[in-house]
Amino acid sequence: AAAAEAPPHLATVAGVPVDTRHWIGGRRVASADTFADHSPIDGAELARIARGTAAEADAAVAAATAAFPGWAATSPAERARLLHAIADGVEARLEELAAVETADNGALLRSHRRGVMPRVAHNFRFFADRLLALGHPALDTRGHTNRVSWDPAGPSVLITPWNAPLMLATWKVAPALAAGNTVVLKPAEWSPLTASLLADIAAAAGLPDGVLGVVQGLGAEVGAPLTAHPGVRRISFTGSVPTARRIAEAAGRNLTPVSLELGGKSPLLVFADADLDLAADLAVEQYDNAGQVCLAATRLLVESSVAEEFTARLAARAAALRQGDPRAETTDVGPIIHPRQLERIDGFVRRALAAGARAVFGGGPNEELGGLHYRPTLLTDVRQDSEIVQEEVFGPVLTLQTFDTEEEAVALANGTRFGLAATVATGDRARADRVADRLVAGTVWVNCFFVRDLRAPFGGSRESGIGREGGDWSFDFYGDLRNTVTAP
Ligand code: NAD
Repeated sequence: AAAAEAPPHLATVAGVPVDTRHWIGGRRVASADTFADHSPIDGAELARIARGTAAEADAAVAAATAAFPGWAATSPAERARLLHAIADGVEARLEELAAVETADNGALLRSHRRGVMPRVAHNFRFFADRLLALGHPALDTRGHTNRVSWDPAGPSVLITPWNAPLMLATWKVAPALAAGNTVVLKPAEWSPLTASLLADIAAAAGLPDGVLGVVQGLGAEVGAPLTAHPGVRRISFTGSVPTARRIAEAAGRNLTPVSLELGGKSPLLVFADADLDLAADLAVEQYDNAGQVCLAATRLLVESSVAEEFTARLAARAAALRQGDPRAETTDVGPIIHPRQLERIDGFVRRALAAGARAVFGGGPNEELGGLHYRPTLLTDVRQDSEIVQEEVFGPVLTLQTFDTEEEAVALANGTRFGLAATVATGDRARADRVADRLVAGTVWVNCFFVRDLRAPFGGSRESGIGREGGDWSFDFYGDLRNTVTAP
C-alpha cells in the first residue's frame, strides 16, 4: 500500500528515493510525458523519468540566465566553499550514489564505491582549489602591465553519456561552476538517476537556485533544443561522434564555443622488449566496465616474435575474469548497459567473424548467464581497413594485430579516424619516448593505463574530439579570458 501511495515522480532505487523530475530554477518540474529507465542487471523498470521537451530546455536556460549575474559576482572564495560543500554531500551519500549508479548503468558496485564516487567528490574539491590558485600572469609591456583574468562566460549546457554518468557529469559541472558559469546538465537517458541526486546534494549544500539545473529526457527531444539555444555561452559534450556532429552544427549557428570529448579506438602497442606479464595485465584491464570505456585500448598491436606468448598470457587472465552481478564484490565484468547496445556489439563481432576474423576467446553473449552479459572477446586475423578495427565497438571486444617494426607499429596505431589515447608497453625508455612522440593521441600511457591527474590536459585528436579540459584548460574553456593593460 505504501508503494501505491508514493507520488509518481518519486522512485526508490536500491533503497534510495530519487526524484525523477527535472530540477529547474531551484524546484522540481514535471513533464507531460515520461520514459522508462531499466536496470541492465535484471531488466527491471527502475523509474519513469520526466521526458523533457524544448519547453523545459527553454525554462532551464532561462533559470540559468537569471541566476548567472549573481553567481558570476559571487567571490571565488565563496564559490570554492560551495563546491567543497557539494563534495561533502557527495561523500556523505557515497554509498547511496554508488548503489543507484550500479542499478542504473550496471557498472561494478565496488568500483563505484572505491574509485568512481570518491573521484566525483574530488572533481569538486580539485576545481574549487584550482580556482583559488589560478595564476594571473602580469606581463610588462614598456612599463604597462597586462593582467590576465578568467571572467565567467554565462549559462553552460553540459551533455553526458551513460558509461560513467556522475563521474563524467561532475568533471564538467565542477569546473563550469568554479569558473562562475551557471549550468544546465542533461544526463544520458539510459542512466539519468545520479544526476537527480546531484541536484539534491547541490541544493542541500546551499547552491543558489538556478545555478545548477538538471534536465532529463532524450537527446533529440531535449538535448537538441538545449544545444541550439542562442542564450547558451558554452556547450561541453561527452559522447559519440554522430551526436557531436549535430551539436557542433547547432553550436556553429550561434557561435557557441564547444568542447567535445568523443569516442576512440585506442591502441596498446606491445614491443618484444616489454614485460609481457605487465602487457597482459594492461590488456585484460580493457575489459573493465565491460569495455564501455572511451579510453579503452581496444586494438592490441603486438610484435610478431612475442605475439603467441602474449596471447597465451592474456587468454589465461581473461579466463579468470568473473562475469556476473555487478553488485557482487567478486564480479569483474558486469552487464552491457542496454539490449540495443548488446545487439550493436554482437553485430560488430558477427560481421567480423563473417569477414574472416577468428575468436581466440569469447565471440558472443554469455549464454549461461543470459541477460546482458557479453563474453570478453579477443579477435585476431583482422585487417587494418576492416570495420572491427576502424569502428568503436564500446563493448568487451579487443582485436589483435601483429607488427615487425617500430615504423609499422606506429602506422597501425595511427591508422584510424580517432586519436583519444594510446598505451605503449616496452622495456626501452628511448623507444617509449620516440614512439609516444609519433602517436596521434590526447593521452599516451607508457607501461601503465588509466593513470589520470586532473591537473593534466584531457581530450582527443581527430574525431576523438575538439579541445582539452582538465586543470587550467578547463578554466580556459569555461571562462572568458580578459587581458587588462594598464599604463604606468
Ligand atoms: P551519445 O552520443 O549517444 O549520447 C550522449 C549524450 O548526448 C546523451 O545524453 C544523449 O541524450 C545526448 N544526445 C543525443 N542526441 C543529441 C542531440 N541531437 N543533441 C543533443 N544531445 C544529444 O553517446 P553515448 O552512447 O551515450 O556514449 C558513448 C559514447 O561516448 C562513446 O562513443 C564513447 O567513446 C564516448 N565517450 C567519450 C568520453 C571521452 O571523454 N572522450 C568519455 C565517455 C564516453
